[in-house]
Amino acid sequence: MDEVFSLFERHVNPGLAGLLRFTGLDRVEDRAEGVYVWDREGKRYLDFLGLYGTLNLGHRHPRVVEAVKRQLDRMPMSVRVLVPEPTARLAARLAELTPGELSMVFFGNSGAEAVEAAFKLARIHTGKPGIITTAGGFHGKTMGALSLTPKPEYQKPVEPLVPGVKVVPFGDAEAVAKAIDDETAAVIVEPIQGEGGIRIPPEGYLKELRRITAERGVLLIVDEVQTGLGRTGRFWGLDWEEVEPDLLTSAKALGGGVMPIGAAIGRPELFEAFRENPLIHSSTFGGNPLAAAAALAAIEVTLEEDLPARALALGEKLLEGLRKLAAEWPLLIEEVRGRGLMIGVEFTDADIGALLISELASRGVLTAFGLNNPKVVRLEPPLIVTEAQIEEALAKFADALAATAKALEGIL
Ligand code: PLP
Repeated sequence: MDEVFSLFERHVNPGLAGLLRFTGLDRVEDRAEGVYVWDREGKRYLDFLGLYGTLNLGHRHPRVVEAVKRQLDRMPMSVRVLVPEPTARLAARLAELTPGELSMVFFGNSGAEAVEAAFKLARIHTGKPGIITTAGGFHGKTMGALSLTPKPEYQKPVEPLVPGVKVVPFGDAEAVAKAIDDETAAVIVEPIQGEGGIRIPPEGYLKELRRITAERGVLLIVDEVQTGLGRTGRFWGLDWEEVEPDLLTSAKALGGGVMPIGAAIGRPELFEAFRENPLIHSSTFGGNPLAAAAALAAIEVTLEEDLPARALALGEKLLEGLRKLAAEWPLLIEEVRGRGLMIGVEFTDADIGALLISELASRGVLTAFGLNNPKVVRLEPPLIVTEAQIEEALAKFADALAATAKALEGIL
C-alpha cells in the first residue's frame, strides 16, 4: 500500500480510508489541471465531482492562480488593524452581484462559517431564536450549521444542538407558513438541495417563501454555498426565480477552486450590530487578501466567459445522455435530474450507486454520493468542461453501468 495512504488511514480518518478502499480510490492525488486530476501512479481522472461544486473554473484556473500569486508576493494576510484592499473590493463586487438591497458582507473561510454568520445575524437582528430549516437540507457541520442540517447520523452524537430549530419538508411553502411562530427569526433554504440528492423544488417555491416570510416579518436566508457562481445555469441559484432574500450565503466556488472563502451577504440593517460592536462576530482568516484576490478573479472569469450559460448548455447535454442511459437500465436507475451542471442520478439502491462510483473510478471518472442521500450519485463537473469530455464521461458511465449490472447478475 502507498505509504501516504497508510499515514492518512492511521492519522487522519481510518473510516474514510476504508470507504475509499472499497470504491477503489485508495490512491494518492498528485496534480491537477482543468477537468483532470492525476494520481501518484500517473492515472488520469476526469473530475466530475468538482469538489462538491467548488471547482466551477476547474483546477488551477490560470487567472485565479495568477491573481493569488500576485497577492502572495505583496501581502497574503491582513494585519486586521489596517484595511485589506482585495477584501473591501470583493465585498463591493458581491454587493453589485447580489439582488436588491444586499450590500453588506461578512467573510469566513467556509460554507459552514457563512451559515454560522447568517444564523447569528438573524438572531441578533430579530432578537428571536427560531430558525426553520428543511428536511434533507445541508448547511455545514459546525454546531450552529449542523443544527440546521437535520441528519441524525451527524446530529445525535453531539446533542444537545443549538435550540430553536424546526424542520419542515423541502419544497412545501405551506409547511413553512404553518411552522412560523412568534419566536421565528428566519427560514434557511437551498435553491436546489445538493447533499440532499440534487432535489429541485417546485417552480415558484422560493418566491412563495419570500412572500410568506415578508408577510410574517421573518427573514429569508438563501444558502448558495453549492448553487452559486453559475453552477445551475444562472449566476445564483435564486436568479431562476428573481427572489431577493435578506441574507445569501456563498462559499465553495467563490474561491475559484484555489482558496477557501465563505461569505454571508445581507441587507444593511442586518449588519447594524457591527456599528455598536464591531467585533461581535469575527474570524482571523475570514476574507483574507489571498482568498479575496482569488474570489475577485473567479467572479470576473465566471462573468467574462459566461460560464452560467455554458453550464446550462452543457448540463442539457449531460442530462440528455444520462436520461438515455436511465431508460436502458431501469432496474438500476430510478431518476436523473438536475439544472445546469448540478446533476444527480438516483439509483434504485444505495449499494448500486456505490458499485457504480467504484466502476467509474476504475475507468478514470470521479463522482460521489450525496451526503444526505446515498442513493444519489452527483455529477458536478467544472463549468469549463468540454463537449468531448462530457461524451467521454457518458461513454464511461455506460460501460460502468454494464459492469455494475453484470456484478449484480442473479441478484436483481
Ligand atoms: N451549505 C451548503 C448548501 C453546502 O452544500 C455545504 C457543503 O457542502 C455547506 C453549506 C457547508 O460548506 P463547508 O463544507 O465549506 O463548510
